[in-house]
Amino acid sequence: MSMSKPEDILNRIYDQALPEPADLEQALSWDKPQELERLFNFADTVRKEYCGDGIIPRGIIEFSNFCDKECSYCGLNKNNRKLGRYRMKAEEVLKSAGHLFSCGIRTVVLQSGEDPGSDVSWLAEMIKQIKSQFALSITLCVGERPFQDYRRWKDAGADRYLLKIETSDKELYRQMHPGMSFEQRIGCLDALRESGYQVGSGNIVGLPGQSRESLARDILFFKQNNFDMIGIGPFIAHQETRLAGQPKGQALLTLKVLALARIATRNAHLPATTALGSLGEDYRQEGLKCGANVLMPNFTPLPYRKLYEIYPDKKCVNEPVGACNFCMEQMAKQINRFIDYTKGDSLKFKGVTLNV
Ligand code: SF4
Repeated sequence: MSMSKPEDILNRIYDQALPEPADLEQALSWDKPQELERLFNFADTVRKEYCGDGIIPRGIIEFSNFCDKECSYCGLNKNNRKLGRYRMKAEEVLKSAGHLFSCGIRTVVLQSGEDPGSDVSWLAEMIKQIKSQFALSITLCVGERPFQDYRRWKDAGADRYLLKIETSDKELYRQMHPGMSFEQRIGCLDALRESGYQVGSGNIVGLPGQSRESLARDILFFKQNNFDMIGIGPFIAHQETRLAGQPKGQALLTLKVLALARIATRNAHLPATTALGSLGEDYRQEGLKCGANVLMPNFTPLPYRKLYEIYPDKKCVNEPVGACNFCMEQMAKQINRFIDYTKGDSLKFKGVTLNV
C-alpha cells in the first residue's frame, strides 16, 4: 500500500477519473485526528465548490410498508410477522404531499417496500394528482419493478428514482438478499437511466462481513455510474431479522465513506441520512460538515410512521409532522449554512458532469 501523505491521497482521489482502490482503502483506515480533519475539510471544500451552502430538503412519504422481499438487514422483510402492515389511501398521500408543500419543500419522495399489492396504475394516478396540484418534484423509491412500470411512472410525471445497491460486492449482496439477483439490480438501475429518471443509489456501511476493500469498491461504483444522488447510511440491526444482535455500523466509518464519496463524485446530491441520525446520537450535522448537502424530513402521518421500521429507534418517529422545518433550520444555522427550498435537481445537468 502507498505511503503517500494524506494530501496526496486526497488529491489523487479527487483528480483521477477512477481513483485507485488502494487510495480509498487507505483513507478509510485513517483514525488519527489530523488525518480525519484533512479528509473531512477536503470533502467540505468540494461540497462548497460544487453544491454551495444550501441544504436541500426532500420530504418523505412512506406510503406502504408491505414487502415481499427478505433483505437480511430490514425490518419490513416479509418474514417479520410481528409488524402491523399498512397501505395509505390516495387521499392521505395527497394530504401529506400538500403538507410538505405548504412547509416550503419542493421534492416529495414516495417510498414503500416492494409491495405486491401496489398497483402500477394507482401510483401513476397518484403521481399525476400530485403534479397537477403542487409544484413538486417527485422521487420514487419503490424497488425493483418491471421496466414498463418505470416508463409508465416517468410518463405520468415522476422525476427521480432511488434504488440503492446497498453493497457493490456481489457475494455480500447475495448473502444479504436471499432470492434476489445483483445483475437484476444493475439492470433496473440501467433501465431507470434509460427511462429518463435522475437516478439515485447508495449503500449500507458496516454490514456484517463487509470489508474496507468492499467499501472502497462501493465508492468506485458510485463514481463509475455517475449517480445523481447517493444515500450512505450505517447498518442498524433489526431484532426481527437474521442479523439481529449484530453490532451497528460505526458513525465514523459512515462519515469517512460519505466524505470520500463527495471527493470522488464531486457534485452528486448526498443526504445526511436519517440512519446517520439514529445511532444513539444524531450524526446528521457531522454528515453535513463532511460532504452532505441534503436532508430528508419525514412527512409520513404519525400512525403509520412508527410502522415503517426498517431498523429500530429510527430518528423522529414521534415528532409531530412539520416539526422538521424548525429542526432543519436550526441544524443549518449552527453550521453557517441555509435550507435551500428549491427542487434541487441533479447537478449533473449543469455542465459539471464528470468524465468517467
Ligand atoms: S430493504 Fe426494501 S425490499 Fe428489502 S425487505 Fe426492506 S423494504 Fe423490502
